Amino acid sequence: MKKDNDRMNPIARYLELRDRMDELSARLTALHGENITCREGCTACCVNFTVFPVEFHAILSEMERDGVKPESIPFDTTATCGFLHEGLCRIYRYRPIICRTHGLPILYLDDEGDAPEWRVSFCELNFTGEGSVEFTDETLLDIEEMNAELYHINREFVASLHEKNYHENARIALKDICQKPEER
Ligand code: SF4
Repeated sequence: MKKDNDRMNPIARYLELRDRMDELSARLTALHGENITCREGCTACCVNFTVFPVEFHAILSEMERDGVKPESIPFDTTATCGFLHEGLCRIYRYRPIICRTHGLPILYLDDEGDAPEWRVSFCELNFTGEGSVEFTDETLLDIEEMNAELYHINREFVASLHEKNYHENARIALKDICQKPEER
């Protein structure tokens, strides 16, 4: 039982972080109005992502709860993300946090140069018109803060596992949810 609790706590924390991400996404989308042109059917940001183990197992847990068999979800190896089907995401309800940031203006730390610099990035299809909202702490998604929280939750999750031996920086291809249970 202790083992189950250890395992569930980080997953519950991950799901809480994901809910907060959804709330922030809704708030920023409303705030930026027509400057965010994301719509159903646009797949410009969809590529095959990797995720932390906590996210991978949280997605599997939710699918199991809902009676969804991940190994029966078709995966299109020719698409930019194999979960795309006719412009829609087959796992939209379960999609990872990275997919929930699509289109938002993101504050990130660029450490490629001599000295790290804070920069803003967003999809080139967005913020093309007049009258953009000024970018401030209140109108941006601080991706470094969110990633730091996700990293810590994942580290706890990985440390709590007994049946798997993931490195704390391990990433798993999201497509691996489609593998047979014994191969995941
Ligand atoms: S999982 Fe869904 S939302 Fe995320 S990149 Fe793939 S198709 Fe797009």
